[in-house]
Amino acid sequence: MEKARTIAQQIAYRAMLNSYSDNHELIQRVYLKIGSVRFNTPDYGYDFTSCAPMTLAYVEMYKDPNTINLCHLSLIGSIEKLAQTLIHESAHLIGLEDECDASRVELLLFRLSRSPLVYKNNYLNQCGLDQSLRWLF
Ligand SMILES: [Zn+2]
Repeated sequence: MEKARTIAQQIAYRAMLNSYSDNHELIQRVYLKIGSVRFNTPDYGYDFTSCAPMTLAYVEMYKDPNTINLCHLSLIGSIEKLAQTLIHESAHLIGLEDECDASRVELLLFRLSRSPLVYKNNYLNQCGLDQSLRWLF
């Protein structure tokens, strides 16, 4: 998990270096959040009740804005996939409640850092962000 945090931080840091003033502060907030957030994981063989079958992770930004709850599904995937999930959830935790806003920031960080997106989250299509993907592959 710490390795995934390090990868996510590296992506956010590179994005920060390549960002224009418009996005710089936003990306910096995501970067700092990734560095300070704590991870909550279910006991082995169990999952949190809030984890639907395809849910990777979730946050409760008002109850605990410094915790990412990692569902079982995210713990059995690759470190790189988990890193992308951490970026998305950290975007929620800086105040972007909306899934489209968080997904937009997720894409922005990958694009600015020139890192390939690891997976397409389910919101990209419904938020009309598929077009942005041509920058990424
Ligand atoms: Zn989300």
